[in-house]
Amino acid sequence: MRPYTRANGYRLLSGYFAAAVGAETLALERAHVFGCPAKGAGSFELLDNDAVAIDRDRQIVALSDLEQTPGLGRNHDPAQVIDFPSHACIHDTSQVDVGGRHPLSAGRVLPLEGSVVDGLAEVSNTLSGTTLPMMTSLWVDTHCHLQLSSLPVEELLERAVDVEWMVVPGIDVESTASAMILAGQHPERLLFTAGLHPHDASKWPEQRDGLAPFFEEATAIGEIGLDFYRNLSPREAQIEAFRDQIRIGLELEKPLVVHVRDAFRDSFEIIDELGAGSQTVLHCWTGGPKWTKRFMELGVIFSFAGPIAFETGDTVRRAAAVVPPGRAMVETDTPYLSPPPFRGEDNEPARVALVGRALARVWDIDVDEVARLTSETAAGVFRS
Ligand SMILES: [Zn+2]
Repeated sequence: MRPYTRANGYRLLSGYFAAAVGAETLALERAHVFGCPAKGAGSFELLDNDAVAIDRDRQIVALSDLEQTPGLGRNHDPAQVIDFPSHACIHDTSQVDVGGRHPLSAGRVLPLEGSVVDGLAEVSNTLSGTTLPMMTSLWVDTHCHLQLSSLPVEELLERAVDVEWMVVPGIDVESTASAMILAGQHPERLLFTAGLHPHDASKWPEQRDGLAPFFEEATAIGEIGLDFYRNLSPREAQIEAFRDQIRIGLELEKPLVVHVRDAFRDSFEIIDELGAGSQTVLHCWTGGPKWTKRFMELGVIFSFAGPIAFETGDTVRRAAAVVPPGRAMVETDTPYLSPPPFRGEDNEPARVALVGRALARVWDIDVDEVARLTSETAAGVFRS
């Protein structure tokens, strides 16, 4: 592998390819790519300093997932040099566009599979005196219903270059079965959970036996909970299904993935009464600071989703401000709740970084640190 040369901007660490998040945008008019292990590019070098432009109005990152770049395939000749046809620059804060035709997710480093670049790799550009923070941690999307997305799962996984692993929650027997199959197909990246969603709680009597074997196999019990906003099942039925599934989780000593909407008091009382707080994950947390503090005393973990990045997300942000790092995780809730600038579109795990960035702003710490902390917490919850 050829090492990077002519460093003065930012650098790439061994084992990682491409990209840093910073305060500038780098437009690459020409970049040469060297090496392409099994997935992703091994390294790349920016050529011709004069061709590199900086757009201060945008956030930078560089390239990722060069597999999608014309001429770069899975098994392409490592010595091959690729000229990008026009330029690659970062649009908005999360997409890279190569020649306007190949939107790529970016903003993060991409771990190499296959060969590893030796030593420190560095990229040259004209950002003299500018230091771009380097991302070294990957995200965990702790809640994404990949089986409910209209896009092929393979594609979603491939696009989520900066997401190390994900949790795929079931919402009933059928979707739990699909989640388990997916986790079986991608054991290195996917975990699944089994449960009956509060929307369908009235089906608990028929669903419980069907879910039983999945409860045994699953990483966690969920998505369970209470939704008194939509009330798609009667409240009594929701409460019964919730309590029963919490008990199952307690018996199996598994985490509980809990949905709470407009039902903070009832959820709190049930979790408290059953002593389930330390096993509880409050997914897509939208409670305000008051409920956040109360739930925190029960020992729960909060998982933040798109709403923390919404313009209307002040309550969630104020809540996140009282949650210590170490008690928080991030998720997309794919295919729902796409964060800006993708609101209204189907969500996908590749956008979990946008949630993490919103959290980084609330906590006023580096986004890389948020990735590290939330991923560490997720590992403690789901993989310990
Ligand atoms: Zn969900």
